[in-house]
Amino acid sequence: MDLLEYQGKQYFARYGLPVSPGDVADTVERAVEVAQQIGAFPVVLKAQVQIGGRGKQGGIQIANNLDEVRKHAEFILKLVIKDRTGTIGYPVKRLWIEKASDIKREYYASFTLDRSAKMYLGILSAKGGVEIEKVAEDEPEAIARLHINPLDGLSRDVCADWVKRANLDEEANEGAVEALMRLYDVFTKGDCDLTEINPLILTPEGKVHALDAKVTLDDAAEFRHPEWEAFKGVIELDGRDKLAAEKGLQYIGLDGSVGIIANGAGLAMSTLDTVKQVGGAAANFLDIGGGASAETVTAALEVINTDPNVKAILINIFGGVTWGDKVASGIVEALGNVALRAPLVIRIDGTRATEGRAILEQHLNERVMMARTMVEAARKAVELAAKG
Ligand code: GDP
Ligand code: MG
Repeated sequence: MDLLEYQGKQYFARYGLPVSPGDVADTVERAVEVAQQIGAFPVVLKAQVQIGGRGKQGGIQIANNLDEVRKHAEFILKLVIKDRTGTIGYPVKRLWIEKASDIKREYYASFTLDRSAKMYLGILSAKGGVEIEKVAEDEPEAIARLHINPLDGLSRDVCADWVKRANLDEEANEGAVEALMRLYDVFTKGDCDLTEINPLILTPEGKVHALDAKVTLDDAAEFRHPEWEAFKGVIELDGRDKLAAEKGLQYIGLDGSVGIIANGAGLAMSTLDTVKQVGGAAANFLDIGGGASAETVTAALEVINTDPNVKAILINIFGGVTWGDKVASGIVEALGNVALRAPLVIRIDGTRATEGRAILEQHLNERVMMARTMVEAARKAVELAAKG
């Protein structure tokens, strides 16, 4: 589970890693209230979505008075923050408002698991505040790595050597060791797959402080963390996501008008790409997995039906272990269960595709169509969606 920034900060605080005082708000009025409670300007307003790169997209604003708080809160609460590829948008439903920090320098720090080395991996860099992948590419020497054997843990001495290697500002070294030891506790005792601070800042007063928090909890450890329940409650899914989760489907809502159902995550992704390539936009990512039974297809169509933006539906199946005729029967049965809100284009290929197509053939009409190839199906669906 990926925590929102403020939840990550709460989790940091639990393990003694200090963060700035602040609170959450889901309305402009509440944002103003929180700013008043903080009681000192400037404050920083931050969009709470499960991805980074918010700063560049206007999701982080500094306010010097209550009027600015109001103005920025209004603006951020209307934003949809895009992921790095620009395909998935995250509407902002919540803000975190905290006392703004003065920044002298921005660093990067994280702990994660290096599976191939079978060890933990700490990454520390004096070049923070930007994407670490970019730093790794442009200036690999600016990154200090540390492999940690989980059985040994992280000693203060080893941590101090690591910090020296990273060439932070001299005055930051002590504070950085302290912060990293705490972050290591969050990572290990807190059962995380990832803990990342970007930026970890040095203030003009010489303090080292976490400005951002990215935490991925290890879901397998949920049984020993009853406190995680509260996090889950907030990362509430929107209606479609919830329905999909209940039905065991991999679903991500998007902004476009072509509803997509595919078997396998890879095929679902390439279906999104193909729809985009022919000039359309996907309304969702939906992977029904290997099974593709009538029950699964029914559930998938029901989820898509809840999205008012969907103007055409595209089912893209490639039979592998799953046979085309089985899927086709599943689709036919599902069509009997669900009243489609938009026309449907189906493409079946792969194992026993001919048999599958023969089954579908008998159920085609002006609302249910078939296409031979993925591109052809995408074109048809995009064309139908455009007609609305
Ligand atoms: P991200 O863009 O989603 O990773 O969000 P961050 O929380 O990392 O913030 C992005 C950038 O906004 C930081 O690198 C800072 O430059 C700036 N920023 C965030 N909080 C503060 C703050 O309290 N004071 C100042 N001066 N800048 C801030
Ligand atoms: Mg950041």
